[in-house]
Amino acid sequence: MSIRENLQSLNQILPGEVTLVAVSKTKPTEDILEAYECGHRDFGENRVQEMEEKAKDLPSDIRWHLIGHLQRNKVKYIAPYVSLIHSVDSESLLKEINKQAKRNERIIDCLLQIKIAEEDSKFGMEEAEAEKLLSEYADKFPHVRITGLMGMGTFTDDAAQTRREFQRLKKAFDKMKKDRPEFTVLSMGMSDDYPIALEEGSNMVRVGSLIFGSRN
Ligand SMILES: *Cc1c(COP(=O)(O)O)cnc(C)c1O
Repeated sequence: MSIRENLQSLNQILPGEVTLVAVSKTKPTEDILEAYECGHRDFGENRVQEMEEKAKDLPSDIRWHLIGHLQRNKVKYIAPYVSLIHSVDSESLLKEINKQAKRNERIIDCLLQIKIAEEDSKFGMEEAEAEKLLSEYADKFPHVRITGLMGMGTFTDDAAQTRREFQRLKKAFDKMKKDRPEFTVLSMGMSDDYPIALEEGSNMVRVGSLIFGSRN
């Protein structure tokens, strides 16, 4: 199947209100262009340097999503153009994003990454920590806007476990979005688990291998 066909079949499955982030990490710019020519604009990368190299060669109306762990000293490279940072996992990172956003005279949209995996969860914040940051950040960091949550399920064949983890994230999302009109994005679901994520209320899925083929 071609990238075009893969995108078409995904777009047929996904409800209209769900944003598809095409995860292009490790894939060449030609593959991104192929998706772009089908009208696709949202692309996800997990490494700053790779995003940098691709963004400079590709059309400027692409919306770049940083989905992987982000180091503070790398924020400055993507701050001029990044569309959404999915992986904010500390106040110190948010502080640096605010600083670089200010320098670029913009407001950068961010998601808080929540630790939902019952196993192998290296990154992400605890719910309580996220709630605290959410209630305090607006005055401190006026150049960032937290627009929702991101989570990654455990890498497992156990669908019930994945569902349980997504349900936890959705519950946290619903609680935090109360009285926050800008809090609208729930980023959960990848190639293997996006159907469960959709059933559990995701409105942004990050899909790589189903579109571009498996990675080495
Ligand atoms: C790689 C990656 C994805 C996409 O993975 P696929 O299984 O190829 O769909 C989604 N989210 C994050 C954070 C990733 O690193």
